[in-house]
Amino acid sequence: MEDCVFCKIIKGEIPSELVYEDDKVIAFNDINPAAPIHILVIPKKHIETLLDVSEEDSNLIAHIYQTINKIAKDRGFASQGFRVIANCGKDSGQEVMHIHFHVLAGKTLGDKIVG
Ligand code: 5GP
Ligand code: ZN
Repeated sequence: MEDCVFCKIIKGEIPSELVYEDDKVIAFNDINPAAPIHILVIPKKHIETLLDVSEEDSNLIAHIYQTINKIAKDRGFASQGFRVIANCGKDSGQEVMHIHFHVLAGKTLGDKIVG
């Protein structure tokens, strides 16, 4: 999408600290980290919100979680644990309308909302 910040990051038009990339997904450090490790994992396909995820995206969503697993193991925080957050819509505070999965790690994540 033309004026989507994350599509611009995918195209390299906006610089980012790349963590991982393949043909389907890209992962990069959040510009405003909420934890010592704060990585955003996003599909290269522009999907605006979680409400727009369809059956045909099943493999893509599974691939996103496999990518998160890979990053957690490669970066060495898998054993300590981490949190994945995906915001959807106004009440969640979603700011960028291209689905993304926040991966938070590197400290005890005390600001637990559920669970
Ligand atoms: P949301 O609130 O939509 O779930 O999260 C959007 C996230 O994207 C925020 O944590 C914000 O810091 C991050 N973000 C927004 N613009 C940029 C950018 O240009 N580069 C990077 N690396 N992160 C961004
Ligand atoms: Zn986009």
